[in-house]
Amino acid sequence: MHAIDIQDLAYEYPDSTKAIDELSLQIPIGSKVAILGPNGAGKSTLLHHFNGLKLPQKGSVSVMGLPLTKKSVKTIRQKVGLVFQDPDDQVFSGTVWEDVQFGPRNLGLTEEEVKEVCEVALGSVGMLEFKAKAPYHLSYGQKKRVAIAGILAMKPDVVILDEPMAYLDPKGQDEVAGLLQGLNFMGKTIILSTHDVDFAASWADIIILMKDGKVLMTGGPELLVDEE
Ligand code: ADP
Ligand code: ADP
Repeated sequence: MHAIDIQDLAYEYPDSTKAIDELSLQIPIGSKVAILGPNGAGKSTLLHHFNGLKLPQKGSVSVMGLPLTKKSVKTIRQKVGLVFQDPDDQVFSGTVWEDVQFGPRNLGLTEEEVKEVCEVALGSVGMLEFKAKAPYHLSYGQKKRVAIAGILAMKPDVVILDEPMAYLDPKGQDEVAGLLQGLNFMGKTIILSTHDVDFAASWADIIILMKDGKVLMTGGPELLVDEE
């Protein structure tokens, strides 16, 4: 079984833009994957298929052995958390605490269980002391960590991040990189898109290069090392 198994996926936007073109891909459980490629390569569209934010128009997507269909989408969302590029698209409740509670509450946990998963999730991103704050008053990097906590509170097997390093200062980048390392250490599969070649080379164990909705190359971090 793979974390993600994609066969011959194609996806076209309503204006006929072919964003994904006959793409196949397998991602082993527990791996750290960085997807790189120019703007418009199809990275975001692909990431949206990993948690059912988009459904395959053609071909198939399986997540932790479960085929992605309209029926399975709810189950798959519990297995796979997607952290958007912009935390303002994800973090919008009155307080940090309310925000992180939103997901686990929808899972039907008891109050006591909700409280516990939220404390663990906020603690693991170092934001527990900010729980009473309005997200509005946080820095961009702090909001990003709250968005990640909201995903972790759902206890996903797979965590997807769209450009997690974008717009973060070096300190914020180090914090997020350390956090991702820790999550992987806990056994979670981490898949992210990035433009940061140095980060990808030092962090990932699988590199996927995309262009024009296709996978150009897959390999280890050595793919990104210049050969003179
Ligand atoms: P990336 O994340 O690599 O920049 P995207 O998945 O965002 O790539 O985009 C892939 C292609 O699909 C691009 O040509 C982009 O312009 C197009 N695209 C993305 N979103 C939409 C949309 N909502 N409607 C039409 N075309 C889109
Ligand atoms: P990224 O490439 O980092 O995913 P973009 O800046 O390409 O983000 O896209 C931002 C938003 O604009 C997304 O919601 C995407 O779906 C939408 N978008 C991108 N390209 C197009 C397009 N050609 N037509 C319509 N919407 C688009």
